[in-house]
Amino acid sequence: MLKIKQETKIKQLYNQRGGKGNSTMLRYFIWTIGCQMNKAESQQIAGCLDSVGYRAAISFSNADLVILNTCVVRQSAENKVLGTLGLLKGLKNKHPHLQILVTGCLVDSDTQELKRRFPHVDLLFKPGDYPELIAWGQKQGIPIQQRLLGYARNDVRVASSPCALIPIIQGCDNFCSYCIVPYRRGREVSRPLGEIVREVEELVRRGIKEITLLGQNVDSYGHDLPGHPDLADLLNALSSIDDLLRIRFLTNHPKDINLKLIDTVASVNKVCEHLELPVQAGDDDILRAMRREYTMERYRELVPTIRRKIPQISLSTDIIVGFPGETEEQFEHSLSLLKEMRFDVVHAAAYSPRPGTIACREYQDNITAEVKKERLDKIEELQAAIASEINSQLQGKEVEVLVEGRKKGKWFGRSRSNKLVFFEDAGDWLGQLARIQIEKTSPWSLKGEVKK
Ligand code: SAM
Ligand code: SF4
Repeated sequence: MLKIKQETKIKQLYNQRGGKGNSTMLRYFIWTIGCQMNKAESQQIAGCLDSVGYRAAISFSNADLVILNTCVVRQSAENKVLGTLGLLKGLKNKHPHLQILVTGCLVDSDTQELKRRFPHVDLLFKPGDYPELIAWGQKQGIPIQQRLLGYARNDVRVASSPCALIPIIQGCDNFCSYCIVPYRRGREVSRPLGEIVREVEELVRRGIKEITLLGQNVDSYGHDLPGHPDLADLLNALSSIDDLLRIRFLTNHPKDINLKLIDTVASVNKVCEHLELPVQAGDDDILRAMRREYTMERYRELVPTIRRKIPQISLSTDIIVGFPGETEEQFEHSLSLLKEMRFDVVHAAAYSPRPGTIACREYQDNITAEVKKERLDKIEELQAAIASEINSQLQGKEVEVLVEGRKKGKWFGRSRSNKLVFFEDAGDWLGQLARIQIEKTSPWSLKGEVKK
């Protein structure tokens, strides 16, 4: 009944605004860049809009409502956001009824300044600031409610994938010197353990088989909650949900990850053997300037401990090259670390000064763009060789894949150790566990055949 009323309301709005195309529904388009947290928040907003009667559009130009979920972690991401905002300015000139909302890390506390720069934007709201979105919706007559944006929402469609992203802790208390995130996402706030369990139970009832728990630093989970449950406690609680097959989480912090968590990954069967453990640099002086609060000695002890306790573990890391003052020798330390650790995946990025951060205030960005590019290329070349060797060891082996969808005529999914696997088969494998015999490997993915 509620749903019918909401759809009628949306149809009325559609008529008032002279909506597009032949449809009698208002359409939304969500443009998302950046981290998994942004993707999770976009999914939440999409689910909410679906449930109040909006329909997803296939592009900006088919939409009545556009939401940009932005990232400004590096200048390159910010440039894409600014480019898209420019494009939308033109679109709004042509279609004045188009509504544009902006969220994500572009939105800082000074929304007045952003409004001045982007007068064509109807609403700017900070990541996760749903009360702002709801208040705006009320003014427009769009019946967005907290209940629909909240977790454990029960009348929202689940996307066709069997995998769901679940934010468990918002914000970050760490203030790494280069990073803008704590300034845009605020301090850490954990979600109550029971609330997360109820949300996952509901999602599993609607067909979800794998969850990824998200936080800028999942090792901080629970420190601000009564009784201080931690991530290991949460993993144990979630693992007792019947029909939930796999649990992942990211990102860990090398200064905080502890033995209790490592032992839990080793012993709880539903928790997949994969960790994202960003090192950022292989040199103690650079790590100090980055304010990472661990040393190479700590990292060099941690990784073998993890590998001893969880022999099947796959490890990903993040590296920044060209941090202010990084000498050739210090960069070589990062390269040697990668050779020594042999990570499965390395996300490498060139240092990008972010106004407002400690590094941007205190250090000169004195490594040229050419040198940063050379260093990035060296890392990528080395890592491609390492990943190629690691993955080639899977040739002829059988891996279990949870099938997430189809791309270019092939099924794809991930192994427990987070390897992307493709296979061809006429059957309907969506959401199924498939045993795949690996026939071909590359640094980035695997290809195989179903074992029936
Ligand atoms: N919380 C995670 C951690 O502790 O590493 C990562 C979150 S951060 C948003 C994602 C990645 O972006 C970082 O691991 C880092 O490598 C990269 N990054 C953040 N700020 C950057 C900057 N100013 N320049 C280049 N890369 C940056
Ligand atoms: Fe940024 Fe450091 Fe927090 Fe990660 S831990 S989000 S890099 S401040």
